[in-house]
Amino acid sequence: MQSSTHYDLIALGGGSGGLAVAEKAAQYGKRVAVVEPFKLGGTCVNNGCVPKKVMWFAANLAHAIEDAPHFGFDVTVGGPLDWKKLIEGRRRYIGRINNYWDGYARDMGIEVIPGEARFADARSIEVNGVRYTADHIVIATGGRPFVPPVPGAELGMTSDGFFALEERPQRVAVIGGGYIGVELAGVLRAFGSEVTVLDMVDRVIAPFDTLLSDTLMDEMRKQGIALHLPFRVQRLERTGEGIVIHGEAGEALGAFEGVIWAAGRVPNTDRLALELAGVERLRNGVVPTDAYQNTNVPGIYAIGDITGRAPLTPVAIAAGRRLADRLFGGMSTRKMDYDTIPTVVFAHPPLGTVGLTEAQAREQYGAQVRIYETSFTPMRYALSSHGVKTAMKLVCAGEDEKVVGVHIIGDGADEMLQGFAVAVKAGLTKAQFDDTVAIHPTSSEELVTLKTPNP
Ligand SMILES: Cc1cc2nc3c(=O)[nH]c(=O)nc-3n(C[C@H](O)[C@H](O)[C@H](O)COP(=O)(O)OP(=O)(O)OC[C@H]3O[C@@H](n4cnc5c(N)ncnc54)[C@H](O)[C@@H]3O)c2cc1C
Repeated sequence: MQSSTHYDLIALGGGSGGLAVAEKAAQYGKRVAVVEPFKLGGTCVNNGCVPKKVMWFAANLAHAIEDAPHFGFDVTVGGPLDWKKLIEGRRRYIGRINNYWDGYARDMGIEVIPGEARFADARSIEVNGVRYTADHIVIATGGRPFVPPVPGAELGMTSDGFFALEERPQRVAVIGGGYIGVELAGVLRAFGSEVTVLDMVDRVIAPFDTLLSDTLMDEMRKQGIALHLPFRVQRLERTGEGIVIHGEAGEALGAFEGVIWAAGRVPNTDRLALELAGVERLRNGVVPTDAYQNTNVPGIYAIGDITGRAPLTPVAIAAGRRLADRLFGGMSTRKMDYDTIPTVVFAHPPLGTVGLTEAQAREQYGAQVRIYETSFTPMRYALSSHGVKTAMKLVCAGEDEKVVGVHIIGDGADEMLQGFAVAVKAGLTKAQFDDTVAIHPTSSEELVTLKTPNP
């Protein structure tokens, strides 16, 4: 007889991936446990997508209040933001999501084991000195912010620290122009902070198509965000005026009231005692898996951010659900398709991308690439003295002009992209885009009416 601490599946981590695989396995009638030291929901709910998006909505309102007088509204432009009220509301909202998960896990019969898990051997884990065994163990422990080991690094906060702020800092530097860095910078600027962004490369959101990064940098500068690109941080120093950032070339920036490290994330795999189970772990902390989320040890799987592929919530969820389908649903070939994953950056303005950038397409298809591009000020700003630019690019390849990449920046890009991602995934051509009747007046209609390719 199996012991009461034996499960069909144990998920290490109650975040996006762990909850998804546990939920699906429970739906298949399996005995399931989730180990979580913090709160159910993981990074996305507690320190990522959700609190970030609440702040982004609030920042959009700040911009809308600025524009409202142009449409005839009598509003107090730049009225102060009650930061405490915003943060309290955000925390209440997240508390409701945590409660939902607690109740849902209970209803599904998923046992939540509070604490930090570490392997005891290839079949068992330990939490707070208690040993649990399972036929299948799924590692889904996510990541944490990376702070480079420079002198004074501890003077800066991370994105976790940003979400814990009880007051809005007035002078802020964001170190790192990746997606988290530009998102936090846009939010703080909209609320009236003086914001500086620096990065060791010469552009923000560097892996994205240059149309998006160029447009975003223009818009950030227009909003008054100072960009120092490239800038290599040598050390941070506390002075009487605040925190000063020293660069490797001898330059200094500041002083700042707050410095935010947004320099990447590292996998939470260093405290799992993976060696006791024989699970391979790369030097950067990533747990390598095959296409089916199998690690090198049979019966142990890895999903989500720790696998080093597309660190996004829907990716972790999809990988978890497909894994449970394969293990318990009789779908022996079911696996996550890591190609053509759409993603959005909730910057100001937002931007979205799916498929190949122009540079990637040229590398893959050579001369057989056609680019259709547009840039305009959307009607949203018809009565405003200023306008936030929208820019779009279709990357097409081959004789039949298959659309292999869609890149959008501008108001509404975040909601526009999902439908176009379906089209790219389905392998549709430029002619099929053109054959779709436009929705007018919108920004997205431009994507089905682009006429002339770039020379
Ligand atoms: C600021 C920010 C904004 C983001 N915005 C977006 C966005 O807009 N859209 C998007 O798709 N993604 C976004 N992400 C990324 C997204 O949050 C992650 O890709 C996603 O949460 C990964 O899911 P996961 O299951 O791999 O890990 P997580 O959700 O991080 O869950 C891992 C869980 O494991 C737990 N854990 C750690 N160690 C142990 C242990 N030893 N034993 C047991 N449990 C353990 C942790 O406490 C955590 O709850 C954002 C991330 C950040 C930081």
